[in-house]
Amino acid sequence: MNIPPESITDLFITHLHSDHILGYGQFLLGGWALGRRKLRVVGPKGIKHYHNTMVDLFKEDINYRISLGRSPRGILENVELIEIEDESEIMRRHKEWPVTVTAKKVVHNVPTYAFRFEDRQYTVVHSGDTAPTNGVVDLAQEADLLIQDACLAVNAVYKNTPNSELQRIWEALQKEHCSPAQAADIAQRANVKTLVLTHFLPKIDEERARQEASARFGGEIIIGQDLQTISINQD
Ligand SMILES: [Zn+2]
Ligand SMILES: [Zn+2]
Repeated sequence: MNIPPESITDLFITHLHSDHILGYGQFLLGGWALGRRKLRVVGPKGIKHYHNTMVDLFKEDINYRISLGRSPRGILENVELIEIEDESEIMRRHKEWPVTVTAKKVVHNVPTYAFRFEDRQYTVVHSGDTAPTNGVVDLAQEADLLIQDACLAVNAVYKNTPNSELQRIWEALQKEHCSPAQAADIAQRANVKTLVLTHFLPKIDEERARQEASARFGGEIIIGQDLQTISINQD
C-alpha cells in the first residue's frame, strides 16, 4: 500500500484468528529491521503470549541482527502490548494518538473486539469478525465509515455444494459472521454514511452482495477489495 512498515507504530488487532494475525511476524521483524524503534499493539487477551512466542521463535534471527548493530528497541524493548481486559468496552486516548479509540466486545468464537476511531471531524468503525450484534450498532452510531464483516456473502465454494464437510462449516459460520443483509441492517440502525462490506470467502457474487445490502441500507455501499484505500475526507 506504499506505507513503509517502519512508519506504523500503533497496531490494533481485533482477535487472534490466523487469518487476521499470521502476518504479524513479518510486520514485527521487518518493520524493526527497517528502523522502527517503538511499537504499541492493542488487542484481546493473548496478544502478549502471541508476541512473545513470535520473538522466541525468531530469537536467533533477532540476536544476529542485534549483533550487527541494530538497537533492540522496537522488538525486545520499547514495545507496549495492551491487552483489553474489560469484557465490554474500553475508551482511551493515548497521548500520542490523534484519535479517541473505543473497543467493544462482539460475537465470535474467541474474544473479539470492534474498534471505533474518532477525531473532531470523522469517525471510522471496524466491526471485527462478528455475528449480528447490537454492540456494533451502538459503537458505530453516526460513523462516517463502517468496515463490516460480511463473510456470509453467497459464494461458489461453501454454499450449495454437495460437500457435507463444507456445508457443516457453512452452518457453523452463521453463528460467527454476518451476511451482507445483516451487515446492512447494522449500518442502517447505526445511521452510518458509508458501509464497506469485507472479509469475504473466495469467489463471492459481488453484485448479489451489493443488492442484498442496498435493499436494507440507504447509504453508500462499497464492496471491499484487498489493499483498497478509502478516503473519508471529502475535501
Ligand atoms: Zn475470526
Ligand atoms: Zn476472520
